[in-house]
Amino acid sequence: MFKKFYISFTIFISIFCIFFNITNSSNNTYKNNNGKLYFPIENRYFSSYYGYRDLMGKTNFHDGLDIPATNGTKIFSADSGVIINSSFINGYGNCIIILHDNGTKSLYGHLSENYIVKNGMYVNKGEHIGYVGPKILSDGRLNGYTTGSHLHFTYFLSNGKTTDPLLLTYENK
Ligand SMILES: [Zn+2]
Repeated sequence: MFKKFYISFTIFISIFCIFFNITNSSNNTYKNNNGKLYFPIENRYFSSYYGYRDLMGKTNFHDGLDIPATNGTKIFSADSGVIINSSFINGYGNCIIILHDNGTKSLYGHLSENYIVKNGMYVNKGEHIGYVGPKILSDGRLNGYTTGSHLHFTYFLSNGKTTDPLLLTYENK
């Protein structure tokens, strides 16, 4: 009786451990261990900064950083996290949003229409997540508010407010 119980208990524990290991390794194995982000594109020239700007005679608030780049330039995730948007959003055009492990979010706008990630996917810091898109999409629509191919990069703090991406620290910038 005791032996039987002992065997089933051992089997239960082993299965539990295997299960725990699997679930543990498929989710969030990567942690941002140096506290720095990954700058999402190789280019280091900026065409528009975070803050108020004049756009066609009107003052508006630009919630991110614009980095001009040719159509097809690779975009990388600023930090590890889950993809929560991979579709067109008014203003941002084709757009990816990542919810990071610490509750912050990053947004990448005016991307190419061939998405290489989808919602629910977990990505590591520095992982290739997409490409800079064209100004005009294949269906004739404007790829968001854009005057030419560029990456629009917005960073949301865990309280939901945006911050100047240039105030953050990057391991590759
Ligand atoms: Zn922008």
